[in-house]
Amino acid sequence: SGGNGAISFLREKYVPKGGPAGGDGGRGGSVFFVADSGLSTLLELKYLTMIVAGNGENGQKKNSYGKAAQDIYVKVPVGTLVIDQKSKRIIADLTVDKQVAMIAKGGRGGRGNAKFATAVNRVPRIAENGEPGEELTAIIELKLLADVGLVGLPSVGKSTILSRVSAAKPEIADYPFTTLIPNLGLVQTKDASSSFVMADLPGLIEGAHQGKGLGLDFLRHVERCRVLIHVLDMSGSEGRNPIQDFRDINKELRAYNVGLLEKPMIVAANKMDLEGAEKRLRAFKKAYPLLEVFPISALNSKGLDKLVYRAAELVKSTPIKPLFATKKISDGKFVYEYRADDPGFIIKHPANNLWVVSGERIEKLYKMTNISDDQGLTYLINTMRKMGVENELIKRGIKEGDIVRLCDYEFEYYE
Ligand code: GDP
Ligand code: MG
Repeated sequence: SGGNGAISFLREKYVPKGGPAGGDGGRGGSVFFVADSGLSTLLELKYLTMIVAGNGENGQKKNSYGKAAQDIYVKVPVGTLVIDQKSKRIIADLTVDKQVAMIAKGGRGGRGNAKFATAVNRVPRIAENGEPGEELTAIIELKLLADVGLVGLPSVGKSTILSRVSAAKPEIADYPFTTLIPNLGLVQTKDASSSFVMADLPGLIEGAHQGKGLGLDFLRHVERCRVLIHVLDMSGSEGRNPIQDFRDINKELRAYNVGLLEKPMIVAANKMDLEGAEKRLRAFKKAYPLLEVFPISALNSKGLDKLVYRAAELVKSTPIKPLFATKKISDGKFVYEYRADDPGFIIKHPANNLWVVSGERIEKLYKMTNISDDQGLTYLINTMRKMGVENELIKRGIKEGDIVRLCDYEFEYYE
């Protein structure tokens, strides 16, 4: 919160009637997040349950201003998304190193009585309290910033591909769900002309978009990728059919967010070293003649150069799409918008003779006004009038003697 404004008058030896000299309160501290490419997880935030910036100092006598509180800067990894839990609005989307976003704004200091002197009122006994600081519960999410994402059913060989084309060492195993956390690797084309970040993403299962298994986390990461490599197991092990697998995965991607299917996608037809793979590859190409298909054997590092070159080309020619170009992400709960102007006040008429005024701005005004003093009360009522509260009450049919309630304060209405 901001510091309170002071009420004070100058009393100096040779100045018989000193004027008002209460200084303003200092600004309250704000909380900022700073993207830091040195960080890769949100672990540090996990144990930080509350982040609080200090209050501004109160204003002083002799027109001395209160000291502003220090702002707080919290380092977070690049790719951090901050969502206000209550409104589900996205407060910050930190995509670039050193990017700074204000998460909660400190309140401004209240004005001291020196600021309230007018030609009519030379002895103002009114000062503002400090503005309350913003307070919120935030959902903090880390979205991967990979250029290329490997998608595909479990065990098709995604981790193996990543381990072959980059220095990353993802877990490789014969059973599904070995990849719990997406692995990232820096991939360079053989002639070193370009490089990009590739992500090996957790296995996808049917119903992933409804949060089944690791699915939802997986899909959130896919959203950020510019290019998708769809990995298929051409060996047909465990009775799998690549055509059906391809269909299933695309169905998931479509169900989650239409934008995913608009990304450039190429197919890595993996495990070509195994029996029957050639036959299935021919059938797949026939079923999808327009797709770009790269036959590979990740295990034997065969065919990977061509795949990497093509992926690099596509990365170069695909602009980074802002995450919120579409209004809908995930299940449509989040809508990206800038903080809209607050309407100021809302009037409710819950009972005969009772009118309740509420709203962010008017409640703030109330909290910032010292109404224990007549002048403060007059100031409050005048400002409410200026905001149009009285007009609205009259329009809605308020009668003499009705009660108007604002926060914990009630007063009778007289014209
Ligand atoms: P992921 O779940 O998609 O990440 O799959 P993994 O990379 O963990 O691989 C699953 C299994 O398939 C492992 O046993 C790998 O050794 C095997 N595998 C991956 N690529 C190939 C390949 O090209 N040929 C053969 N024969 N096996 C492979
Ligand atoms: Mg894996």
